[in-house]
Amino acid sequence: MLQEKNHRITKQRQVILEELRKLNTHPSADEIYKVVRRHLPRISLGTVYRNLEVLSELGKIQKLELSGSLKRFDWNTKKHYHIRCVRCNRVDDAPIAPLNQLENDLYKATVFEIIGHNLEFIGLCPECSKKNSHN
Ligand code: ZN
Ligand code: MN
Repeated sequence: MLQEKNHRITKQRQVILEELRKLNTHPSADEIYKVVRRHLPRISLGTVYRNLEVLSELGKIQKLELSGSLKRFDWNTKKHYHIRCVRCNRVDDAPIAPLNQLENDLYKATVFEIIGHNLEFIGLCPECSKKNSHN
């Protein structure tokens, strides 16, 4: 019985991981739920959400807590930055290298032990930028 349950959880996590890896849109739990449901029709949003939390705790995925938008998930666990459209909340990767020097500089200037940093760029995506200039 327990084994059966574990098998189901493993299967669920596998499907969630596979579907997330197909998306470069940094989807919310709700968006992931919609695609996962096609493979696992009986899964609930709560289960998807719990699995996403576990996967991020295991370091298999990255949870993004961006300001002004829903919690989103990223299959890419490497340190990288994001740029968010302030109009439609589209989130893309920001194609620049991590600013490790910043942390080194701060290391000398603070009594804190630095464990990381968050940096989010904001702007207008091409679609919203176009709409802006037409109005
Ligand atoms: Zn936009
Ligand atoms: Mn990303």
